[in-house]
Amino acid sequence: MRNGLLIKYGEIAIKGNNRWSFEHLLMDNIKERLRPVGPFTVTKEQGRVLIEPSGDVSAEAAIEPLTRLFGVVGVCPAVIFTDDSMDSIYANTLDFLKESYGTDSRHTFKIEVRRSNKRYPLNSIEIASMVGEQVLNAFSDWTVDVHQPEIKVFVELRNRVYVYAQTIPGPGGMPVSPDNRAVVLLSGGIDSPVAGWMIAKRGVELVGVYFHAHPYTSDRAKEKVVELARRMSFYGGRMKLYVVPFTDIEEKLDLTCPRDEITILMRRFMMRIAEKIAEAENCIALITGENLGQVASQTLQSLVCTNAVCKLPVFRPLIGFDKQEIIDLAKKIDTYETSILPYQDCCTIFVAKHPVTKPKLSGIERSEALLGDMEADMKDAIDRSEIYYLNAGHVVQPETAR
Ligand code: ATP
Ligand code: MG
Repeated sequence: MRNGLLIKYGEIAIKGNNRWSFEHLLMDNIKERLRPVGPFTVTKEQGRVLIEPSGDVSAEAAIEPLTRLFGVVGVCPAVIFTDDSMDSIYANTLDFLKESYGTDSRHTFKIEVRRSNKRYPLNSIEIASMVGEQVLNAFSDWTVDVHQPEIKVFVELRNRVYVYAQTIPGPGGMPVSPDNRAVVLLSGGIDSPVAGWMIAKRGVELVGVYFHAHPYTSDRAKEKVVELARRMSFYGGRMKLYVVPFTDIEEKLDLTCPRDEITILMRRFMMRIAEKIAEAENCIALITGENLGQVASQTLQSLVCTNAVCKLPVFRPLIGFDKQEIIDLAKKIDTYETSILPYQDCCTIFVAKHPVTKPKLSGIERSEALLGDMEADMKDAIDRSEIYYLNAGHVVQPETAR
């Protein structure tokens, strides 16, 4: 009977000396992801993580949550057992196949044996052909196809024996670590959730920062960003989201500075505030959804002006993507439908009809100087931020966030 899951995590397996810590990080993240699902034991053996229910819960219940966890390459429903005699292997394999495919199905198959227990009296090929013979006897309509089988049945003899046939793909990537934190500037648009997702996929824990210009932007716009962060948190796990009130700063810019430069100036203040939050949150990089040439604020010259205010590295993983490629990814990670909901973004409120497209840094700095010292304004905005905590697709209370 299927009684566990075998987790594949390819990329981690090749990390040499770091392997141990990656595996433990992945196991910690798996345990955390499964805590609300039920009691499971999570163990590790030779490049495999094994998950077994330890109470009244089925192994199946853990599949869906794990196929959205970074670091998981694949989830294989398996039967796991200790008796490695051939009789036990036969019985367990046949039960497993009957449970997975029924008895009156018609399939081509192949048995693939991996044997790390080299003292075992039979070699892999012998075991495979003996198990194959049993399958042929038990399933009259099944035939062997060693080249392109419909079902590849894996029998792995390690400390225990695992039999599995199906790998349900996970998102891959690296397990997210609380030691690698970065701030993602999260608008309600299509791009920034994808950008955050791409960096989180490399093992980075995200802190989202959204600039909200109430009442110019509605509560619905804010809820949309919380929903995007919630969806992103399916993959990485924990995520904190700052909703920073941006109206006062925007109004000041609008009153004081040339209108055609407002977008760039706004973006510079966003970056500055995000960097201050990064510092407070122990984040060592910023992430934006910027993409070269999409809009006036994203020409090469504009990016230079925005970038000039940052000391931290700014990652723009979408910089070279075509819009369609970004949309395809947004659909894949399930943020697209939320992103296209028609609520306003603060960047579109005070924007000029003809914004500068090739701003010079010196000119932008001159306009900005008209504002005087903005430190207190920025601090005030951060202090008045509303904070949300998300974890694995849920909005949670701060005390359960970590
Ligand atoms: P997106 O699809 O992510 O909204 P965009 O194509 O609309 O991006 P811009 O509006 O120029 O482009 O924004 C570029 C980037 O600046 C965004 O991807 C995001 O990282 C950041 N950004 C813009 N507006 C906000 C906001 N209101 N709050 C937080 N970050 C923002
Ligand atoms: Mg936008």
